[in-house]
This record gives sequence, C-alpha cells and structure tokens, in this order.
Amino acid sequence: MTVTRDYYEILTVTRTANGDEIKRAYRRLAMKYHPDRNPGDEEAERNFKEAAEAYEVLSDENKRRTYDQYGHEGLRGRGHAGHDFNNMNVEDIFSMFNDILGGRGGGGFGGGRPRQRRGYDLETEVQISFDDVLTGTECDVEFDRVDVCKTCTGSGAKPGTSPATCTTCGGQGKVAQAGLGGMFRMVSACPACRGRGTVITEKCEDCRGQGRTPVHRKLRVRVPAGIHNGQAVRVGGEGEPPSPEISPDGSGVNGDLHVIVRIPEDERFEREGDHLIKVVPVAFTQLALGATIAVESLDGEHELDIPSGTQTNEIFRIEAAGLPSLRTGKRGDLVAIVRLVVPEKLSDEQRTLLTEYADTEHIPVHDANESGGSFWDKLKDAVTGRS
Ligand SMILES: [Zn+2]
Ligand SMILES: [Zn+2]
Repeated sequence: MTVTRDYYEILTVTRTANGDEIKRAYRRLAMKYHPDRNPGDEEAERNFKEAAEAYEVLSDENKRRTYDQYGHEGLRGRGHAGHDFNNMNVEDIFSMFNDILGGRGGGGFGGGRPRQRRGYDLETEVQISFDDVLTGTECDVEFDRVDVCKTCTGSGAKPGTSPATCTTCGGQGKVAQAGLGGMFRMVSACPACRGRGTVITEKCEDCRGQGRTPVHRKLRVRVPAGIHNGQAVRVGGEGEPPSPEISPDGSGVNGDLHVIVRIPEDERFEREGDHLIKVVPVAFTQLALGATIAVESLDGEHELDIPSGTQTNEIFRIEAAGLPSLRTGKRGDLVAIVRLVVPEKLSDEQRTLLTEYADTEHIPVHDANESGGSFWDKLKDAVTGRS
C-alpha cells in the first residue's frame, strides 16, 4: 500500500509531537479502525493501514528525520514497504493490542493476577480556544454508549428465568473443528451461544436479550492548561462495559473515554509549542526613534521597549507571556515581530515635514546578506529558544 497523505495529518498530530503523543494518537486510531471492530468496512481497513504506516515512520527517529526532510519520496527505495510489526518492540505490540482488544488491566506477562474483563474505550471530541489553553477549562461532553442492562444485570435472561446450558457445545463455549484437511484441530467460539456456554430461553424485555442497553451520557471534563491540538483527555471508566461475550454476568471494568481536544487556529497568534508568535505593526518613527509599544497577549497587554534604529521584521521575545507548558505549567514566550507600516495617506503638514526630513536623509546602501541570516532563520531561532 502506498500512502500519499501526510503522516502527521493521518495521525492528527503536530510536526513537533513527541513519541508519546504519536503513540497515543496511533493507538486511538488503531482502536477506532481495527478490522475486528469494523468487519467488512473497507474504508476503516484503509484508515487502519494508513495509521499503521504513519506510526511506523514517525515512531522511528531515523525514518522520521528522513520523512521530515524529504517527505514520502525520501522513504522510497529504502526498503520501506508498508507496515512491519517486526520493527515494533514487544511492549508496543502488547500494550497496543491490549488496548485494541479491551484487555488492559491485568493478564500481562507473568502477571499472576486474574485477567480483568475490560470494555472498549470510546472517543469523543471537544473544541476549545487559545484562551482556554492559557487557563485550562471545563467542557461538557455528550456521547452514546451501552451499559449493562439493569433489569437482567447483563445476562439477557428475563428476571426469574435462567439461561440454559448450550446444547451445541455442552456449555464449553468452544467447539473443535478439523482444519486444513484434518491435519489440525481448530478450536473456535461456539456459534450457537457465541462463546457464552449458555443460551437464553426467555429474553429480558428491556434489552431484548442483549444484556446491554444504550445510554446517553453527559459529563463535565476538565481540560488542563497548555494542552495541544489533537491531544486527548482520558476519563477512566466512562467507556463501554465488557461485551457479553467476554463477560456474560456483566462483571469487569468499563473502558475509558478519550476526549480529543481540538483547538482551531487563532487569527491573533501563531502557536509554536508553548510560544505565541505575533506580528506587531509599528510606524517608521517608532523604529527610528525607539518607543515603548503595547503587545497584546492572551492575558492582556505587555510592554515592549524597541530601541532606536530597529529594523522592520526584527524579532523580540517577551518572556513568559506565551502559553503554559502542559507538564510544568511554565509559560512559553510571546515572540513579537515588529513590522513597519507605511502610511497610505499623508496630511499636508506631514508631507511638508517628511519632505524636509528627506532632504537631510542619506539612503543607505544596504546588503541584506550582511545582517546575519534570513528572517526565517531568525524566527526559527527565536521560537526554538536559540536566539
Ligand atoms: Zn436486560
Ligand atoms: Zn455453545
């Protein structure tokens, strides 16, 4: 399969996302599009494969660097052909499939604890603003899920009746079939009772024998300050209960709810990590004479002194006026780019004054290459903190 979409876009992570963020994004997509959960859905299968390929590249430092530099082209001809589980470490594969199969919470290698039955994780989205990122916020989310039926406590049997032992499998829940021309005996889930070992004789009327009923949930979710677009807030236990196949009696724990946080672009600022970047219009006289100007951030105005002789597009940092770090709470910087705005109209008085000034002016012969790197290099240095 040849993926042509941008890998970062596929995983809905930023280009600066760290390994954890990439892994989390991939798990989420793998769970959502896993073929077991979307039987016969070709689009889901395509999405699943795309995500796997994007993860394989972005989780590998070398491949990611190549991709960042040269794109899809760069990875071609390096023996890169689709997803290869051999390249993932055991912990990755194990924890990933635990998530996908809803088996987290026990039963790991040498665990000793009995395997805990766990339901599927669910996913929903909220949208917040840059202002919410500064302070953190609370969001109301609504979503649908199934719960264990209260009437029959999940058995699917009408109260007062009990499920009967399945006659097809004799209550084992498994049946053996000859496979590959009789060379192997293959054990699979009993089709008559779907692995439960029991069949319902009289169905519970509230859930029609399903043992599960749909519910509409409303929750208030705390979104921490400093969160990034595409990151998820996990609400433990708000996912689905274990399916009747793995938990006929309704026991076990619910999966989790992942609330994906979407942060649309803000016309006032660019965000780069925890830094905010802003273009600030200034007049020629302010640049030439020096001035104290007000630069708006999310928490109000900050004063910035610009020295006399400042050039247009010069970059200033106002420390700790950006967004808080999700981990440490320490605020990033506000990066201000001062940009000369030439007046489009002049009054008679201004024209006279400027003409007088022009008579005294020496037009410099200026070589832009001598000023030490391009504007974009300087901006890059500024946002990565190397200036
Ligand atoms: Zn019921
Ligand atoms: Zn059976």
